[in-house]
Amino acid sequence: MAGPHSTAMPADGTPVLLGLDIGGTKIAALIADESGRILARDAVTAPVREGGAAVADAAAALGLAVAGGAPISSAGVGAAGVIDHETGTIRAASATFVDWVGFPLAAELGARIGAPVVIENDVNAFLLGEAADAAGDVLGVMLGTGVGGALIVDGELRRGPHGAAGEIGHTPGYGELVCTCGQVGHLETLASGTSIARRYTERSGIGIRGSREVADRARAGDPHAREVFHAAGRALGLACASAATLLDLPTAIVGGGVTQAWDLLRPGIDDALRTDAPVSGIPLGIRPARLGGDAVALGAIEAARRSAPIPTH
Ligand SMILES: [Zn+2]
Repeated sequence: MAGPHSTAMPADGTPVLLGLDIGGTKIAALIADESGRILARDAVTAPVREGGAAVADAAAALGLAVAGGAPISSAGVGAAGVIDHETGTIRAASATFVDWVGFPLAAELGARIGAPVVIENDVNAFLLGEAADAAGDVLGVMLGTGVGGALIVDGELRRGPHGAAGEIGHTPGYGELVCTCGQVGHLETLASGTSIARRYTERSGIGIRGSREVADRARAGDPHAREVFHAAGRALGLACASAATLLDLPTAIVGGGVTQAWDLLRPGIDDALRTDAPVSGIPLGIRPARLGGDAVALGAIEAARRSAPIPTH
């Protein structure tokens, strides 16, 4: 991975903001100034099988290295799982992360970097980053290994009383296939990267490595591959239309690895918007994310900024 780009770092002791994206395979760090301009970034492998303390050690070391000696005024973390926002603790997470549930990440990381730390769910952080220029009400959908979702209503993240608002991947009505959660017919059974690969193999009898290979085959004219992406796009469009109808949302932003095949998802999305546009006449726009790999860390910085006490001077 590339080394830190630190040529733009302030040399005068001006405080900077740290954003961390802690995923199942890597930890990415960004340093930004108060205006949100990115000054430096780097990434390391995430030692998620070694426990929470090892992840906190790696994240802190990376963050301090990327800051290059500049004082960190506050830090935000986007992390997979359900977050307890009162204690900065991970309340529930995938089994990939060893000793992660109950780990006091905000306190442990704060002690290591010497600055206040705010933890946000990674999909929420993604949407905070991506929606910075979208006013008001936005739905975020992440098409990755699974399908995650997030909601901004009236300019604020809508987390819900159980921290589970926006879980669009596990809404029902999209068929008879069994979902990773054990229930049937959820959006995730058609639209996740894992599902796209599995659906293709079911149709074609051909075993493949992942959704990217399905995309290559679709662009080469494979009708099974095109059908699988059309079904994924149509289900995504229907889910966004349902959310928009319920909440009067004009915008849905879609991120995650599967959106590299946006050209293949788009026809199914347009098909859904033709047959099932919100009846209220909301001009629903569904667009791909723009910030790429920076979205979660930038959104985490925004989460930290939003939770910071208002300066008295
Ligand atoms: Zn499910």
